[in-house]
Amino acid sequence: MRRKNLLLLVPIFLLFACSTPPSQPTEMEWAIVVHGGAGSLVKNEEMKTQYETHLLEAIQLGSDMLQDGASALDVAEAVVVYMEDCPLFNAGKGAVKTLEGIHELDAAIMDGSNFKAGAIAGVKDIKNPIQCARLVMDSTEHVFLIGEGASFFAQSQGLEMVDNAYFNTEQREEQLERIKNEEEDANPRGTVGCAVKDKQGNLAAATSTGGMSGKKWGRVGDVPVIGAGTYANNNTAAISGTGHGEYWIRRVVAYDISALMEYKGMSLQEASEEVIFNKIDPMGGGGGGIIAVDKLGNISMVFNTDLMHRAWAKSDGEYGVRLAKGEEKTFNKNSN
Ligand code: ASP
Repeated sequence: MRRKNLLLLVPIFLLFACSTPPSQPTEMEWAIVVHGGAGSLVKNEEMKTQYETHLLEAIQLGSDMLQDGASALDVAEAVVVYMEDCPLFNAGKGAVKTLEGIHELDAAIMDGSNFKAGAIAGVKDIKNPIQCARLVMDSTEHVFLIGEGASFFAQSQGLEMVDNAYFNTEQREEQLERIKNEEEDANPRGTVGCAVKDKQGNLAAATSTGGMSGKKWGRVGDVPVIGAGTYANNNTAAISGTGHGEYWIRRVVAYDISALMEYKGMSLQEASEEVIFNKIDPMGGGGGGIIAVDKLGNISMVFNTDLMHRAWAKSDGEYGVRLAKGEEKTFNKNSN
């Protein structure tokens, strides 16, 4: 049903692309934005359509839930589960490989209404890491579980466990070979994330990743580090990042955006641009971006790479999808 709806939407997008940036209205009842990572190569039109279709499908899933009154947390989790199950993205099925040729996954979720958060890192056998992160938040006194402990916990909660090979795809095998042969750098590739404002005015963010392709020695990136790749505060914004995680950790990117809003009174867009362009850029090498939604339902999608796969929707009917840099392609359900 959802897929059918989406298949109808994709050609409409291509026909009705208009070149105005997303407007910044006063207040949205609900708003949602997703990313499918920065830097993933789009080799041809067919691939572009595939990415756009899945990003739109994720947005449609979230929009339907929000319209029905679902909580920001439930929506962020469900949308990230959908993206984890899609082999195109570097999260869950389709995750990149470590240098040893296995998959080690990280995920985090945060509730902006109460600062509760859950995160896991370095897991090898949990089918949907974001569900485990949610359970860490809801069902333990902890925030962050790693490796075997996280897997043991997931199993005890009845989550679906899989063999590490489940996450693999031909594309990731080939990518690792290219990295080993020094034909490709270990760039950020296709992490997924979602930031949501719900009808109750609550904000939530969720992010999930396989990390950086060819990563070594149990490396953990920014995604599960609360405040670096994932953060939510009802008074400021919900933020999910994608990029070279080492830089994101060192600049505490997601929290810094929230703090600039809280302490300096910056808008979400100003704070996001300040962090990505004036703090990450000067360090060199920190390619990536953020998606975020503030308490009024304003959306920001700021990145310093050529691409960041992204899609968004708001309660006023505006929605859009975009992969490359440039002006956002928007569409409004209510005016067509
Ligand atoms: N931020 C992720 C990491 O460093 C990678 C990505 O966003 O693609 O693990």
